Amino acid sequence: MITENAIDEATQLISKLIQNKCVNPPGNEMKSIRTIEDHLKSKGIECSVYETAPNRGNLIARIKGAEDGPTLMFGPSHIDVVPVPNPEKWSMDPFGGEIKDGYIWGRGAMDMLFISATQVQAFIKIHEEGINKGELLLFIVSDEEAGGTFGVKWMMENHPELIEADYCLSESGGISIAENKLIFMIGEKGGAFKKLTFSGTPGHGSMPYGSENAVVKASKAILRIQNYCDNKIPITTEYLGYLADGLAMSKIQKFMVTTKFLLPLTLKLLRKKDPNTAKTIHSLSRMTMSPNIVKGGIAPNVIAANASVAVDIRTLPGQNDDYVVKHLKIALGDLAKETEISDLEKDEGGIASIGNASEASSKFISILEKAVNIDLPGSNLVPLLMPMVTDMRFFREKGVQSYGFSLFDPKVTTKDMVTLMHGIDERIRLTTVELTLKVYYNVAKLLFN
Ligand SMILES: [Zn+2]
Repeated sequence: MITENAIDEATQLISKLIQNKCVNPPGNEMKSIRTIEDHLKSKGIECSVYETAPNRGNLIARIKGAEDGPTLMFGPSHIDVVPVPNPEKWSMDPFGGEIKDGYIWGRGAMDMLFISATQVQAFIKIHEEGINKGELLLFIVSDEEAGGTFGVKWMMENHPELIEADYCLSESGGISIAENKLIFMIGEKGGAFKKLTFSGTPGHGSMPYGSENAVVKASKAILRIQNYCDNKIPITTEYLGYLADGLAMSKIQKFMVTTKFLLPLTLKLLRKKDPNTAKTIHSLSRMTMSPNIVKGGIAPNVIAANASVAVDIRTLPGQNDDYVVKHLKIALGDLAKETEISDLEKDEGGIASIGNASEASSKFISILEKAVNIDLPGSNLVPLLMPMVTDMRFFREKGVQSYGFSLFDPKVTTKDMVTLMHGIDERIRLTTVELTLKVYYNVAKLLFN
């Protein structure tokens, strides 16, 4: 059972991890790895620490049951945090880890130190009580916020056998989107950032008639891409179906949202009434393409000989680079033959990732739902893809069923989460800490006994 004492220890651990200030870059996460190692050792738990770079590393601990059974990983749980660009705008010290007004305040509280700490604490409780079957793994990592090179990636390359699991539980999920409806993250959209380059013939700007102007080409391309993305690109309603069921939409609403040929109309109707839902439905139904940077020309009186457009492309699971290029070309139409398509350079923001998703319903998900219902009776879980990239992508690639799952106080909204993550006055409710600690403990109890 989760006691008051266990909740207190989890709270203190979150404060300590915030105070350790493992800002990435440079990370220096070994400080928090040692904090967790010492805490586990004080409870008589053995763990292994892997140094992946000076002052950086990962930690693994495991509990085995007597009988064979599934392996569940608490993690990958990252202990690095993003920088604080404007500390003066905070109402509290961003690295104080102070407790005030029912919250723990500080950088990383929400992303994702409260999860890492409650996973450690639930692991300790499960260790105390033992499991009958299967295996529980605790995997604490560095470097999630900068791509995982010294965290999950290092482990996958050097000790893949130590992090084999059937299921992973990690960050982002368990937030309420309607009464008794909690989202949990089953996957991530991928990202492909492309650069489109156009050429023209330079000439005097005073006589533009019939000229070959690269900026004009880029402008045409931008409008074509936007039109294609909104009206012509292939759509799927798979992820919308989950959303409609999870939200218990009326039959008509569900029909409007999940019927492909009606979707453009549904989006048009929703756009004014509920723009945020319209955005979500649009992004869950297709590969999106957003031309976000345009550069071109050299002088106001010279016809532009060069122009480029950077396009932010977000793919659904299963859509690879060939798919991206193919649809960019279709969108460009007759301009495609005059367009050079390349990957945006890394230093220009071109970080690519592949979309991925785990099963949206399974025996394991029923267990998650059961565990949630112990403390929040009447709750249903709603599967969702999320727009950001996490360490879980490495595990989904290997077929591990990986879910973003914690348990927020139902008073917390998705808007709160989005504002506070990486934001000013990042903080986590003490009630969320308690619920999350309990839900991890309960999942393990239900799965292993
Ligand atoms: Zn995170």
